[in-house]
Amino acid sequence: MSKPQPPVQKNQTIEVTFEDLTHEGNGVGKVDGYPLFVPYALPGETGQVKVIKVKKNFGFGKLLDVEEESQERVEPPCNVYVQCGGCQLQHMSYSLQLDMKQKQVKDAMHKIGHLSDVPVHPVIGMDDPWRYRNKIQIPVGEKDDGGLKAGFYRKRSHEIIDMDTCIIQDEHNDRMVEAVRRIAEQYGIEAYKEEHHSGVLRHIMVRTGQHTGDIMVVLVTKTKKLPHQDAIVNEIRETFPNVKSIVHNVNSKKTNVILGEQTNVIWGDKYIVDQIGDIKFNISPKSFYQVNPTQTKRLYDQALEYADLKGHETVVDAYCGIGTISLFLAQKAKRVLGVEVVAPAVDDAKKNAKLNDIENAEFYVGEAESLLPWWQAQGLQPDVIVVDPPRKGCDESLLKAMIEMKPEKIVYVSCNPSTLARDLRILEDGGFETQEVQPVDMFPQTGHIECVSQIVLKEEAGSQ
Ligand code: SAH
Repeated sequence: MSKPQPPVQKNQTIEVTFEDLTHEGNGVGKVDGYPLFVPYALPGETGQVKVIKVKKNFGFGKLLDVEEESQERVEPPCNVYVQCGGCQLQHMSYSLQLDMKQKQVKDAMHKIGHLSDVPVHPVIGMDDPWRYRNKIQIPVGEKDDGGLKAGFYRKRSHEIIDMDTCIIQDEHNDRMVEAVRRIAEQYGIEAYKEEHHSGVLRHIMVRTGQHTGDIMVVLVTKTKKLPHQDAIVNEIRETFPNVKSIVHNVNSKKTNVILGEQTNVIWGDKYIVDQIGDIKFNISPKSFYQVNPTQTKRLYDQALEYADLKGHETVVDAYCGIGTISLFLAQKAKRVLGVEVVAPAVDDAKKNAKLNDIENAEFYVGEAESLLPWWQAQGLQPDVIVVDPPRKGCDESLLKAMIEMKPEKIVYVSCNPSTLARDLRILEDGGFETQEVQPVDMFPQTGHIECVSQIVLKEEAGSQ
């Protein structure tokens, strides 16, 4: 029997009615049962679609026009939304974004984790889902008239889009980028040209402590020297009296990595300070720090509620970064042990503990999957284990170690519902039970979603 041919052909224009959304926010419509994925189309809409790509079981299309608009469609407030690759969901209402993300987590629980009964709560969204990002890293290029432009790359390219504002960025970041661009232009500083690996200014990075108002600006150059350094410093300070730290970073390599190895503080402090809840953090140019502190606070509060600490517990925070969650936990636990594979992050974590006079948190450099079994062999018995792994999820040997350590509770913080669901299944099979999952929207207007989940040891597993 010959295989059925897809019912559409490349470059054909066809009317499609959309029923669903993918996790990336693309509309899904079916043509004789064959799914077409179409960016910017919304469920409930009918529109003309040009077929772009035809695969055996699905295809991609481009939305030409919408005949029946969904009530959830909104005018994207950013005027470079379609060109820029940064946001994916600005064309839909915020409530649809939140519903879509909740469904994505539910689907992962059901299809990947076979955990259809686990409650997935409505997503905790932001009251105002704009201007939330505390960090910007923006490439600098040359305009046709020879001036400088700072903007993000066009989708799937390294062409810089000239933009004057990014509306998911803290306003200070936007204004600082614009000021540095103008000052650099005024002093005739050349933009870096990627194709020839020549020129000077590559990126402008700005970090704002949203709680403290501190600002750090980093100018990344290909050259060892920043031309007109003193004049530039003075101009920045005059324009932004609340700037706390001005940094020059040298990146001479042909690379997509933004910051190079050499970092010189050319004016002010090495760090800026920010605060989440009662905890202060030192942030240096290279520190990992959550980009949306408002929602981070909500995420950590939920993690703390799930940990349900009474004060006598020993807690392990695997994947601890600069100790953000560990220090939150330390306020309520007897002892916290943080593990992190990046050594400078562990140094930051130790400094952050000192900054907050926290003495019951210890930090170790290592792989969580190696350190936990070793600790177990030494007789350490944690009551609660918190994990917050990167997108690929927990290493299998870490899951195995947790199953053997039998903590009363595991709190799993995750930026990827698929690997979360996969790992929850392994923990369930190892004697744990997932109680609930709370998604938190850390990245409004984009397709990302963060979750926190409470997992408890089943009684029979604990008494074995
Ligand atoms: N909990 C922190 C950081 C989470 S990001 C916060 O909320 O700020 C995940 C962290 O895991 C990163 O800092 C990364 O360097 C670290 N990491 C990645 N693989 C690891 C491993 N195998 N063992 C320990 N840490 C790891």
